[in-house]
Amino acid sequence: MTNSSINWADYLPFFKPYEFECNCTHKCGLQNMTKEHMDLLFKARKMVDHRGIKFDIISGSRCTYWNKHEGGTFSSDHVTGEGSDIFVSGSRDRFLILKALIKVGFSRIGIGRTFLHAGSAARNDQEVCWLY
Ligand SMILES: [Zn+2]
Repeated sequence: MTNSSINWADYLPFFKPYEFECNCTHKCGLQNMTKEHMDLLFKARKMVDHRGIKFDIISGSRCTYWNKHEGGTFSSDHVTGEGSDIFVSGSRDRFLILKALIKVGFSRIGIGRTFLHAGSAARNDQEVCWLY
């Protein structure tokens, strides 16, 4: 269940496909990240690399079961492989990652205490930033 249009070698050394697999308890293994999303995320990741930021992915693809479990909306970016939650450990990392996400063109951003959501689903509202 992987998206064949993606060449994961393009995103090394930063991202590996298993990091974006659904975290569900059914171990469904869904990984449907889109190339458009990954290209943006890779650009943002490269932008903060010199700052020594970790940029760990805590949630990527989600099956509908897990999306519901995690409290995601019906049209959540995660379901179609157009959402990534990135772990952030402090105010500096949060600022720098947020700046990079906006700079590369993510127009759906969520801010949690310990993570940032980067969303790129065109069907959903654009130029929005929400809190969890
Ligand atoms: Zn799943």
